[in-house]
Amino acid sequence: KANRKFHPDNTVITLPGGQVIGDGSLTLIAGPCSVESEDQICGVAQRVKAAGANFLRGGAFKPRTSPYAFQGLRAEGLELLQEARKKTGLPIVTEIMSASHLDLFEDVDIIQVGARNMQNFELLKELGKLDKPILLKRGLANTLSEFLMSAEYIMSGGNEKVILCERGIRTFENFTRNTLDISAIPILKNRSHLPVVVDPSHAAGITWLVEPLSMAAIAAGADGLIIEVHNDPARALSDGAQSITPDQFDIIAKRLRKAKAVL
Ligand code: PEP
Ligand code: MN
Repeated sequence: KANRKFHPDNTVITLPGGQVIGDGSLTLIAGPCSVESEDQICGVAQRVKAAGANFLRGGAFKPRTSPYAFQGLRAEGLELLQEARKKTGLPIVTEIMSASHLDLFEDVDIIQVGARNMQNFELLKELGKLDKPILLKRGLANTLSEFLMSAEYIMSGGNEKVILCERGIRTFENFTRNTLDISAIPILKNRSHLPVVVDPSHAAGITWLVEPLSMAAIAAGADGLIIEVHNDPARALSDGAQSITPDQFDIIAKRLRKAKAVL
């Protein structure tokens, strides 16, 4: 179902609120790694909205390497995201970690499957029963064929609203947190008809690489970007080192829109 051979036209995903992904425009998803407080998420939401973001991101259930690290505000985090959406009108994107939490995600606009759950096949099957867009991230060490098969798990259940997200893969290089696989973008666009977005933040792990990687992603044909933006990166409860400030996002977003326009 994800295969371009049987579906030559690009899939365009339209949300109930009218937002469109995959129509040739640039979709910007921005917000903190983790929802930390009402002030934080609402403040960042207002700033990224003013800078032209189309969606607000923010993690409530966080897949942390250490069980002693901040695990997210969980259900409370989801409520704060709803609050931020009410204040700004920005639809929200947030990660699900377990099918047992599905009830809590009813009012989420786009459900994210994180890299660590790309091959959680039972979770993918449950998401296949929904009528809601799924932002599926590529696993840390998964091939593009495996990635597309995971999309297939969701689509085969009847939910064809899948957005693919390249977020960097593990290589021997350790200057960056991961290595952004730029070739994944044209390959995924060639092999499938699904929208492709890129996460330069988790690929880079370093703020100053967010802009150049975003530019490269746009040049390679990405439909959108998902970028971590934090009001106070130095004090972020997760991923501060890769989070840009709202001021930086404002500048970068303008440059990215200009770049997309000349393609
Ligand atoms: C995230 O988006 O904050 C996240 C945990 O991303 P990934 O699953 O790509 O590591
Ligand atoms: Mn993060």
